Amino acid sequence: MTVRVRFAPSPTGELHIGGVRTALFNWLFARNQGGKMILRIDDTDLQRSKEKYLQSILDSMEWLGLDWDEGPRKGGQFGPYHQIQRLDLYQHEVNKLLEGGNAYHCFCTPEELARQKKQDAQRGLPPRYRGTCRYLTEKEVEERKKDGQSFVIRLKVPQEGETVVEDLVRNRVTFENKIFDDFIIVKSDGIPTYNLASTLDDARMEITHVIRAEEHLSNTPRQVIICKILGLDTPIYAHVPMILAPDHSKLSKRHGATSVQEYRDMGILPDALINYLALLGWSPGGDKEIMPLEEMISLFSLDKVSKNASIYDLKKLTWLNSHYLRTKEKAVAGKMAVPFLKEKGIVSEVGSEDEQRYLDEVVDLVREKVKTLQEVADAAIYFFREDFPYDEADVAKHFSREDIVPVLEKIAGVLGEVEPFQKETIKAALKTLGSSLKLKLSKINLPIRLAITGRTMGPDLLDVMALLGRDRVVERVKRAKQFCLDGKNEELI
Ligand code: GLU
Repeated sequence: MTVRVRFAPSPTGELHIGGVRTALFNWLFARNQGGKMILRIDDTDLQRSKEKYLQSILDSMEWLGLDWDEGPRKGGQFGPYHQIQRLDLYQHEVNKLLEGGNAYHCFCTPEELARQKKQDAQRGLPPRYRGTCRYLTEKEVEERKKDGQSFVIRLKVPQEGETVVEDLVRNRVTFENKIFDDFIIVKSDGIPTYNLASTLDDARMEITHVIRAEEHLSNTPRQVIICKILGLDTPIYAHVPMILAPDHSKLSKRHGATSVQEYRDMGILPDALINYLALLGWSPGGDKEIMPLEEMISLFSLDKVSKNASIYDLKKLTWLNSHYLRTKEKAVAGKMAVPFLKEKGIVSEVGSEDEQRYLDEVVDLVREKVKTLQEVADAAIYFFREDFPYDEADVAKHFSREDIVPVLEKIAGVLGEVEPFQKETIKAALKTLGSSLKLKLSKINLPIRLAITGRTMGPDLLDVMALLGRDRVVERVKRAKQFCLDGKNEELI
């Protein structure tokens, strides 16, 4: 048996991290089993489905590297992969159900159903359709239709026996059929409900394992009932627990970024997000936190998925991100940083190879101390622009020394003579200057750093100077001297 799994997003919003985790578990399982990953678009909600969300979901999946074997942008032998293009197929099965007496037209009005629901609630019962239209004759149905009465189609759910759901995460769950009412399978606009469309597609697309969010658990017995009535094989299910916010509430916007797009804009790398989400609710045992993709694929199994909800932890994600950021190949990290530098107006175009190489070196230097690509861009500004501001607290501390003007002047003089302008030669020159002025090295280095970067924290100072080059360093030190003479910051902001 070839394993076939599907991820079935509804294009009614951006791809949420809960959705990514579902997609990822499907993907890891498919890749582990040498199976197929199918991407199906559940777009039967005409009101809420939007093309822009569809494109954004597909882009997010591609950005994450979660490729699919069949689906949009790809095709495949079980298409179309958009539910809205499969209405004829559903209609065909619905007719079969109607003809076989397993489904029926229901003309109950929303007002009538609301009244019944209210009564149920007053009696402390769960809402349940009473089966009012179950026994309408064919003639009555035709007359009402002719009359223009609106209707839905309901499944005639057998009231005896049990329905069993085999779930690899929750094990076997048995339901008594009498708890289910005759649920709707086709809405009044003629569009099938999620339960019907999803079940038929899973069967037609020969899906072997349905791995999805726990919130669908209550739908599953209904889907198994549909399979039974139509004589379809039921897939094996795996319901993945929720991701909750740190306060154990439902994860939402107020807890920060939730969509892939937002993480991407924050400067989170796809590898970090994948690594983080894979180990959120799944563990191969042990306490390994950083796991290369190949290892995840080879170790992944559904029986190691936790039954408990997982708690989202942004700190851990950014910690993992800093790891992936630091360990990327220099040129790759450089390329990844470009859109962030552009977005902040720090660079406009990276035209030549030399410019790209310089940028790669800058990113390589600043990435040691930051966690996201956004922070890379913030930390890199002084490598590309002369109009960076000085940090006010640092100015108060380091530019208020009595000797600051002559010291900066000496520094500019000495650095102007360093040839070649490299780490070792700069270091030696500054050491000599320190001894002749009888100053500790920090009394020289901190003002230099503030003069050339606008702050006193950052990567190795000698590396920074070597990369900026003599002319820019000397120019900036002179400018800082003038600033100290004038005693004001505004000009530079
Ligand atoms: N479109 C459904 C969702 O996004 C799919 C559920 C399922 O996987 O069956 O929640």
